[in-house]
Amino acid sequence: MIEIVPIPAFEDNYIWLIRNGTSAVAVDPGDAGPVVDYLQRHHLRLVAILLTHHHGDHTGGAAELRLRFDIPVYGPRLEAIASITHPLSEGDLIDFTSLGCAFQVLDVPGHTAGHIAYYGINSLFCGDTLFACGCGRLFEGTAPQMHASLAKFYALPDDTGVYCAHEYTLENIRFAKSVEPRNTALIAREYREHETLSLGRPTLPSSIGLEKQTNPFLRCGVPAVIAAATRFAGHPLVDPVDVFAAIRQWRDQV
Ligand SMILES: [Zn+2]
Repeated sequence: MIEIVPIPAFEDNYIWLIRNGTSAVAVDPGDAGPVVDYLQRHHLRLVAILLTHHHGDHTGGAAELRLRFDIPVYGPRLEAIASITHPLSEGDLIDFTSLGCAFQVLDVPGHTAGHIAYYGINSLFCGDTLFACGCGRLFEGTAPQMHASLAKFYALPDDTGVYCAHEYTLENIRFAKSVEPRNTALIAREYREHETLSLGRPTLPSSIGLEKQTNPFLRCGVPAVIAAATRFAGHPLVDPVDVFAAIRQWRDQV
């Protein structure tokens, strides 16, 4: 049976490990140490690494793990990451027979220019593109690009597990409430996530369905979000891309 487990790294990163009883694949191992510890403790063999984008807190441990285990490193074709052995872009499919799972690659530029995501086993590994109740900063891409990337996620089934790379949930909910103070799903989520964190558990994975209900960046066509974005911009906004751009700009200021 396949399990997906979070390995906490740095201050608030999660390295996701997709594992069965014998083998594992690591997603965005920014640090090799905690991954090696986990593998040793559970007697697992690392068979591959998946990278979503070039930032050091996602790639920093890849070279060491690749050397240590002599394994392939998959990652974005459009980004210069030295440890990659198998460059990928949208339409590519990777099949891990030892784990019995396969992933489809999606191009999701916005946070970085060549960011990719992995979708398979009813799960989405989205790096820093989508967060619980938030989305990644636009370091290299444009608002239309990020909006289009998020639209690809929006089209996935509601029960898709969303495995984001950071524990930003409560902070994001605080902002989301300033956009939609009357969103009851959001208020209920805040209460729930507080509980989860107080028990020492991650608030992830989320799901596409929950993000559709509570994430302002996926709700740019909702009247309350359009109204809030319009107030922020100081002039009427109609196009969902303009709404998205305003909400992103607002988020960057708080
Ligand atoms: Zn990043």
